[in-house]
Amino acid sequence: MKLKMGSKRYTFVIIPDANSAVRRFEVPKLIPYIAGAGLMTLMAVTLVMYASHAKNATVANELEKRIVSKDAEFSSTVQEKNQTIEQLQSEVIRLSQQTAEMKQKIDAIRQQEDEVRSLTGSGQVSISSADAPPASAAMGGSSTPATDAEVLTLAEQTKSQLSDMDKSVDELKDSIADTKEKALEAQEKLKVTPNIWPVDSRTITSGFGLRQDPFTSRPSFHSGYDIASPANSPVHVTADGVVASTGSDDSHGNNIIVTHSKGLQTWYMHLNKINVQKGEHVQKGQVIGLVGSTGRSTGYHLHYEVLKNGVSSDPKPYLP
Ligand SMILES: [Zn+2]
Repeated sequence: MKLKMGSKRYTFVIIPDANSAVRRFEVPKLIPYIAGAGLMTLMAVTLVMYASHAKNATVANELEKRIVSKDAEFSSTVQEKNQTIEQLQSEVIRLSQQTAEMKQKIDAIRQQEDEVRSLTGSGQVSISSADAPPASAAMGGSSTPATDAEVLTLAEQTKSQLSDMDKSVDELKDSIADTKEKALEAQEKLKVTPNIWPVDSRTITSGFGLRQDPFTSRPSFHSGYDIASPANSPVHVTADGVVASTGSDDSHGNNIIVTHSKGLQTWYMHLNKINVQKGEHVQKGQVIGLVGSTGRSTGYHLHYEVLKNGVSSDPKPYLP
């Protein structure tokens, strides 16, 4: 009825069936456009939301992947760290073992030094030694992994032992220097003390003390050793010293007196030849003359005499 073309309204007619009344209604002409626009907006919003969701899903997926990757990375790092800690603990244990071994070596050196001292007659030294228990004592026999506290204690013990050893080595250094000095003194003393045979021969034809005189057959005192020896065999001075005198007389023949230390002198008689001069420094073993039979002698031999503060004494303690 009022459906007019060009008017500002649309009229919609609904015919349900033949017997029912026809219904119609009018809407302003703008409504379909508004509805269309609404639909378009809804679709646009839906699309945007869908795109946003899709994007979020991708981001979430990406994040999840990264988390998994990071997790693996962390696990690997933790594993590496654990390995490093285990290696360090092993190092501490090894170090403590090495320290214990080193301590044993130092003790062995100290013992040897004591032996050297007793050889040179300078007595034993007991260096103060902080006898910490060997590091190996901190380890048990079980296979339980060491706790951090145990490893830390071991490290502390090792540190303390190393510090003690440092002190010991310093003391040992001083002590060895002292021992060396004592050894040199002993060596020096040995050099100036007669203690070797003056000739190669060991045939003593007349000892020290009372005997029957070979010329008069009367009891007489023999002040040294007569050592039978081939003519011109070398005569060695029996210790370092200085030639006190050389001479020749009817009784002693060609003879040499050498002064050593601590009032000791040695006297070599009946020589064929004298190789040294008065005042000459001689060294133990040096050839000072040749065996002869000069003076009051019945055959080739060396009369060897040791004088202590000018008095003849038995040469026996001065021979090896
Ligand atoms: Zn004699």
